[in-house]
Parts: sequence; C-alpha cells; structure tokens
Amino acid sequence: MIYLVRYGEIGLKGKNRRFFENRLTENIKKALQGIPGCSIRQLHTRNYVEVPEERAAEALQRLQQVFGIVSLSPVTVAGPDMAAIKDAALAEFSVLARPGLRFKVNTRRANKRFPLASQQVSAEVGAHILRSIPGLKVDVHNPETVLDVEIRDEAVYIYTQRIPGPGGLPVGVSGKGLLLLSGGIDSPVAGWLAMKRGVTLEAVHFYSPPFTSERARDKVIDLCRRLAVFGGPIRLHLVRFTEVQKELQEKTPEKLSVTLMRRMMFRIAEQLSAKRSALALITGESLGQVASQTMESIAVIEQVVSIPVYRPLITYDKQEITELSRSIGTYPISIRPYEDCCTVFLPPHPAIKPRPEAVEEAEKALDIPALVRDCLEKTEELVIDPENGS
Ligand code: ATP
Ligand code: MG
Repeated sequence: MIYLVRYGEIGLKGKNRRFFENRLTENIKKALQGIPGCSIRQLHTRNYVEVPEERAAEALQRLQQVFGIVSLSPVTVAGPDMAAIKDAALAEFSVLARPGLRFKVNTRRANKRFPLASQQVSAEVGAHILRSIPGLKVDVHNPETVLDVEIRDEAVYIYTQRIPGPGGLPVGVSGKGLLLLSGGIDSPVAGWLAMKRGVTLEAVHFYSPPFTSERARDKVIDLCRRLAVFGGPIRLHLVRFTEVQKELQEKTPEKLSVTLMRRMMFRIAEQLSAKRSALALITGESLGQVASQTMESIAVIEQVVSIPVYRPLITYDKQEITELSRSIGTYPISIRPYEDCCTVFLPPHPAIKPRPEAVEEAEKALDIPALVRDCLEKTEELVIDPENGS
C-alpha cells in the first residue's frame, strides 16, 4: 500500500524548505520504526510512503501522529497510459460505489508529454466508470466522491480519500523547549501543542518525597512516554523539591506559598534550560483557571526569569483542554489520583492577586541561590524512549 503524504506550511518556507522536508521525512521514518518493509520517497513537495499491505492500518495510525502532515491519501499507482489509468480508477471506485452515488473525476497533468488534456482524461475515466458500474451519476458541481487522477512524470496516482493529518510543523524544526510537567491534565496538552509547532521537548517535574508518592513520579514518566509517541524521546528532569517546600512552609506567609513556589520552579527551570540549551519554558497555565493563574499572579511569577515562557493553553477553556487531552491519550494518565507537590502543599486561601512588593519581602527570608543550587544538584535525569523500552 502506498500513502501519498502532503505537507502544507512547510512547503512555504523558501530556502529552509529542504531542511523542513528532511526533518519530516526523518520523523516519518522514526514513526514507522518497528514496521519492517516500509520505504519513503520524497518527491516534489510530497512524500510517498510504501507500507506492507497487512500493516497498512497501523502505519496510517502512526502517520496521523506525525506533525507536519496535513493530509494523506492511499493511492493506486498506474503506468502512463489510459488503459492502465482506467483499470486502476475502476478498482479504486468499485469498493466505494453504491447506487445513485454522485461523483466526479478530477485530473491534474504535471507530465506535459502525456497525450491527452486533463479534461479529456476526466471525461474518459468518468465514462469508463459509468459504463462499468451501473447506477452511478456524474455531478461536477456537488459530488459526494471525487476521484483524483494525478499524472506526473514518474507515474500516475489515483485516489479517492483524503485523510486528515495532525498539521503543524515537524518536531525538531523550531528548537528546544522545557516543559514544566505536573501530573495534571493541562501541562501534557501544552507540551503536545508546543510539539505541534515543531518544538523538541524536554520536561521538568518537581516532586516532594515523602509527601508525594512514587506513583506520582511513575505517572509523569508515563505522560512522557505518551508524549514521546508524537515527538520522539523526551529527557525528563526530576527535581526533588521537598527542601524548598519545607522552607516556604516554615519561613513565608501561607497565602503566598503558591506564588513563591512557582517562582522557585521558574528559577530552577531557567537554569536547567540554560544547561540544556532550551530557548523557552512551556507551562500548562490557562488564564483564570486557579488562583496562581490570574493576570496578576502570572506577572509576579514571570518576573523572576528572563527566558521566554510559552503558555499554549492560556486562552483555552478547561473543557477544550480536556477534549484535547482525551484525543491525544494523556487524559487517563492525568486523572490517576496521585497528588503532586502543589496539591499537597496547597494553602486553603492562596493570594489571588499577590503584590510584587509583598512577594519580594517574603523571599528575603530565603537563601534563594542556595536552594536553587541544591535542587539542581539533586536533579535526576531520565530519557524516556518508548521505542527502546525505557
Ligand atoms: P496542570 O493540569 O498542568 O497540573 P494546573 O491547572 O493544575 O495545571 P497549576 O497547578 O497552577 O495548574 O500549575 C500551572 C503550571 O505549572 C502547570 O501547568 C505546569 O506547567 C506547572 N507545574 C505545576 N506543578 C508542577 C510540578 N510539580 N512540576 C512541574 N511543573 C509544574
Ligand atoms: Mg496541576
């Protein structure tokens, strides 16, 4: 089975087009790893992916997760003569046909040496189908099915389906981002959206043993494993955050603890980014969702870093986020009941509009550089690569 794979935006990138195309081809290869006998051909701003017939459905499912792919069509390939084209068109069509079906044939001819004009090809192929399958109708204005015939130099491609791909840009073309990954619903979706724009992800998770369980850690590893399906292996930084949280609890006002904790997370994440050459932090924040996500809170939290912070979900409703989370398969992992460090230490009345002066005042009680250094030293690093069983 051959899939014609189309990409949209990346065709527009001028000089960089080669780079984008090669990355997409690489990502397709990786996605098909484990299905032997696949081959990929890059030809005039498309990919033709050949997969073994018996694993075509599985291959399609994987291709539908490769960012950068706009649509796919299973194609029949024919030689450059009318008899072959008619036979192939009929074979494509006979599986779809039902009495009364309205169809049209749409021909594009890139191979100018082909003896017939596009219109003529469409007319002849249409007539052949009408003769061979009784009860069909040609309707050029409002067809239910379009049979596409593309006459190119190397071959003729015939297809009736256009299956949507995920769109976006190939992972790896944009640069690296560090995802602040909690165990919740939002941050994995934020990571997925960033990958969709070509970002390579690393992830950082803050946890507080013994207050948070081993299971919470496993949950985050499983989330990375799921995200890796879309963007390849993910390096996960696990930061032991217990010391910071104890200090905050002992030395700072309770109602500021969420703000202060987030500021510590940002500081540590910024350091990790520098070490790992990441160009942005990515969070699952969504405006107004909780106390720490008011415009005031976000401003005060962001103050402590100079690295750009991407918040792909900032304007999303919880409902929309949940739907996305279901569709990408992170939802069942996210709703496992193990608490993360934020939930465990959540004060009953967090400040909704923390004042910068109050926050800075509270931080005077802490030795911030020492806390950051200490956390970085205790950070554990894992590479989550489902293809290699890790
Ligand atoms: P999520 O569903 O992603 O947990 P949330 O709605 O629970 O988000 P918050 O708890 O306010 O929101 O967290 C906001 C963001 O801060 C998260 O989306 C995530 O990016 C980051 N974050 C929160 N807790 C952690 C953690 N333990 N480790 C890493 N990042 C975290
Ligand atoms: Mg959360």
